[in-house]
Amino acid sequence: MPTIQLLPEVLINQIAAGEVVDRPASVLKELLENSLDASARVVEVQLQQGGVKQIRIADDGCGIAEDQLGLALERHATSKIASLDDLERVATMGFRGEALASIASVARVTLTSRTQGGAHAWRIAAGETSPAPAALNGGTVIEVADLYWNVPARRKFLKSEATEFGHCDDVFRRIALARPDVAFQLQHNGRVTQRLAPGDAARRCREILGEEFIANARAVEVEAAGLRLSGFAALPAYARATRDAQYFFVNGRFVRDKLIAHALREAYADILHGSRFPAFALFLDMDPAGVDVNVHPAKTEVRFREARAIHQFVRHAVSRTLASPVAEAGVQLA
Ligand code: ADP
Ligand code: MG
Repeated sequence: MPTIQLLPEVLINQIAAGEVVDRPASVLKELLENSLDASARVVEVQLQQGGVKQIRIADDGCGIAEDQLGLALERHATSKIASLDDLERVATMGFRGEALASIASVARVTLTSRTQGGAHAWRIAAGETSPAPAALNGGTVIEVADLYWNVPARRKFLKSEATEFGHCDDVFRRIALARPDVAFQLQHNGRVTQRLAPGDAARRCREILGEEFIANARAVEVEAAGLRLSGFAALPAYARATRDAQYFFVNGRFVRDKLIAHALREAYADILHGSRFPAFALFLDMDPAGVDVNVHPAKTEVRFREARAIHQFVRHAVSRTLASPVAEAGVQLA
């Protein structure tokens, strides 16, 4: 007879980590989202060896109080939702209270934080019972070192430093695109690879997608029935050989969605032929109650309550913008 037994907490977290934390880039995504949820205005990321050796992220957000630092690393501990009602209209990027616990189960994590008005900072390493006084001007610094040091089977699946850095860079760009109001910096092995000052959406799009994209793009700005689509859609002249320049966000969250992909394919169907892919950075804003983001731990999948209406809205908004006779091509930068 097999015996049924409860798994130890660390193993539970390591199993969960398989879903949330499959490579350095997914750690980075969780940490960046936490900084934004903490209302950070400035976020600085330092990666060592593609993020495998270390990911360090510093923000100027609200910080974590001394008595909460240990809790932040616990599974199912979150400051973002407290009820099913909250879950149905969640406006933060995170809400599962799993990321830090998962990450801490497969890497060496330290958390240093100082709240506004706190006399000084506090620091805790995962596994320690209480925080110790530390120095920090404000906000939070999270260090994640030696990813999968204790899970050799996972470590084997990590790719080259360049590949892992590439994935981290992708994550960084998506999040930076969605938040032009926030300053971001990315360093790899001590070298600054991106430095983004706060600005408007057009400027951020140009920084992330390039001058040529923005010069060949139409600004999208359509609002109807509680839905708003904004951003930039490139004309066929800037079509790509891959899907690399396709960015779609729902309420600030980068998503990959079949329905949206289909709507966009149709929007471009009349003007883009052959095997080229359109380039776009589009932002759909809607009532959070109309979209379920709790489909997958990584939250890149979503489900829309009114799928048909969303499909139509996106398709029309983009095809109309692309077809509209605009005197000059390209977008004027402020
Ligand atoms: P979630 O984001 O789903 O709440 P996490 O495990 O990512 O879960 O984080 C747990 C908690 O730790 C958050 O709810 C938040 O209160 C706190 N936290 C994490 N990162 C930061 C940060 N950079 N600044 C302030 N608080 C943070
Ligand atoms: Mg989180």
